[in-house]
Amino acid sequence: MSETKTLKVSPLAAFQDNYIWVIHDTENPQNIAVVDPGDANVVKNAIRNKKWNLQAILITHHHHDHVGGLLELKQEFSVPVYGPAMESIQGIDFNLGHADTINIKNTHLNFSIIDLPGHTLGHIAYYGHRSVFCGDTLFSGGCGRMFEGTPKEFYESLSKLADLPEETAVYCTHEYTEANLKFACYAEPDNSDISAYNDYVIALRAKNKITLPSTIALEKKINPFLHCANESLQLSLANISKLSKEELLNKPIDTFATLRKLKDNF
Ligand SMILES: [Zn+2]
Repeated sequence: MSETKTLKVSPLAAFQDNYIWVIHDTENPQNIAVVDPGDANVVKNAIRNKKWNLQAILITHHHHDHVGGLLELKQEFSVPVYGPAMESIQGIDFNLGHADTINIKNTHLNFSIIDLPGHTLGHIAYYGHRSVFCGDTLFSGGCGRMFEGTPKEFYESLSKLADLPEETAVYCTHEYTEANLKFACYAEPDNSDISAYNDYVIALRAKNKITLPSTIALEKKINPFLHCANESLQLSLANISKLSKEELLNKPIDTFATLRKLKDNF
């Protein structure tokens, strides 16, 4: 029933460029869950000001800017904490992995879990209500750094996200869109969707406006990391990285590895 309603989600800005996402219950929007509360004070201030009732904490992976406020919030609000089974994170009550589903108490919110190894090995996403909370795996116009996984794992994780329904709203953790599109223009100079969206994002950021959520449909158009199976990107990268065409043509995983390395040094 709640699947037909658009999910109400509020961003809380934290640190330099993080968003802590607040997911509102579809029936009683004062009841909320938070995703990746890196900073407890940001969440506590918002809860106090808005008179929200925290019902759950959702964690995508173990990095400090995602879990830093977890224990303090858990202690103050006594709510269940959901997180990845494959990572060691203090304070997790429900250890989640592939195809698990969760129903958040006192809400109508339910999510299924998608395993996304690559940025970290145990990284998970929460998918439901036509929305995906994907942490540091897929960013708008880019993807997370490959700290723990292999190119094959990361490529397959991005492919899982790309296979979600086109209308799926994408809630990632960082406001990296402008920098990502600058790199996307470099990697795919002939892609007019990317250059047009780049102009749009530059104008948004000049007004200090948020560029999220994105959608899977939009990312498939403007995110080079979702174009690794495309010949046009493969040829462009071969040219930029001085590889022979044969090293990348029809090799999406090698194309992903090359693209990720170029972005690391961009
Ligand atoms: Zn991270």
